[in-house]
Amino acid sequence: MWRGAVERLLRGRGVGSPRAASGSAVAQLRRRLESELEDIRGAGTWKSERIISSRQGPHLRLEGGGAGILNFCANNYLGLSSHPEVIRASVEALEKFGAGLSSVRFICGTQSIHKDLEKKIACFHEREDAILYASCFDANAGIFEALLTPEDAVLSDELNHASIIDGIRLCKANKYRYKHMDMQDLEAKLQDAQKHRLRLVATDGAFSMDGDIAPLREICQLAQKYDALVFIDECHATGFLGPNGRGTDELLGVMDKVTIINSTLGKALGGAAGGYTTGPKPLIDLLRQRSRPYLFSNSLPPAVVGCASKALDLLMESNAIAQSMAAKTQRFRSKMTAAGFTISGKDHPICPVMLGDARLAAVMAEDMLNRGIYVIGFSYPVVPKGKARIRVQISAVHSDEDIDRCVDAFTEVGRKHGALP
Ligand code: PLP
Repeated sequence: MWRGAVERLLRGRGVGSPRAASGSAVAQLRRRLESELEDIRGAGTWKSERIISSRQGPHLRLEGGGAGILNFCANNYLGLSSHPEVIRASVEALEKFGAGLSSVRFICGTQSIHKDLEKKIACFHEREDAILYASCFDANAGIFEALLTPEDAVLSDELNHASIIDGIRLCKANKYRYKHMDMQDLEAKLQDAQKHRLRLVATDGAFSMDGDIAPLREICQLAQKYDALVFIDECHATGFLGPNGRGTDELLGVMDKVTIINSTLGKALGGAAGGYTTGPKPLIDLLRQRSRPYLFSNSLPPAVVGCASKALDLLMESNAIAQSMAAKTQRFRSKMTAAGFTISGKDHPICPVMLGDARLAAVMAEDMLNRGIYVIGFSYPVVPKGKARIRVQISAVHSDEDIDRCVDAFTEVGRKHGALP
């Protein structure tokens, strides 16, 4: 009976006799939710989800869309999500350490593999210590409140990721928002923030909508001048930016100037899930005592720890994967530019194809899929009005032929819809 009900739900037919909550409050809630959902549809901002029926990778099978779809919209920058050694390590961890801990870390949820992974992360970033979270969203939600008090100040780039914005909302520090990558504005805000005890500048290392990289050298110089700390979110940098894939701080030569790094295990590092903070040991010790998403949420499952741990081993052994991704990115960016497209950002595998018009981005993305290329269009409110785009993400496991096929399809579709002459 249970199986039958689930199958009916999966086929979108309802369970037959769902337990309908009754009462006027529920009826009122339903009306309100339905009207809100209608507003979202009406505004054209409804997010639908395509169903993948294969592993994550450069070639996908989409439900209803056939096999052999070329995938250019995952954060699988290094192609490790389905790497055989990563999968094997995950299965081994699952068999040896079980499905999960049924506990938070400080009660009975810390296994040797959690401590080993934290050591590997700290070693990879050349920091004193690291702490694991269920996601980087949690790491960002947990750090600012634990670290900053009303005596302190946090200065945040206006285009920082939603999780940084939410994390900052939760803390009681004085808040400054500086214009995107605008060093004059940051300096003015740092001057004003001199009256506070401690200043923390918070920025994404690489920004996911534009593929642009924070001017970390200049940020670190200003931080030094005004005695501030620097925090970076490296979700779109860890594993592949810089000569050894250490991230934005390595790329820009400021590894010794950035104090705190938050990043994810859910993108380049195997793509399963999980996040972390790495930095000075007393900070990590404090987070273990005070950070709420760490204290009050379950430990990372062993299978997930196994994936990330193997991904880091592969990166520590060789920088070949990171280097190959850089070459693929260069190929796509230069061929698209030669074809007449404008690609935002520089040297980053996030390659936003700038189109301006929201409808154009939507129909072109749809037409790309008709040609077997999976890309996503972004428009307002995710990006500013008039700056609609199709975001392409390159992975180390795309072949040169995959990239050329994508460029050819863009050229064809761009001509058809008037984005190219
Ligand atoms: N920070 C940035 C810049 C991100 O792009 C994301 C994910 O999209 C996150 C944080 C959250 O990472 P996670 O998926 O590990 O929660």
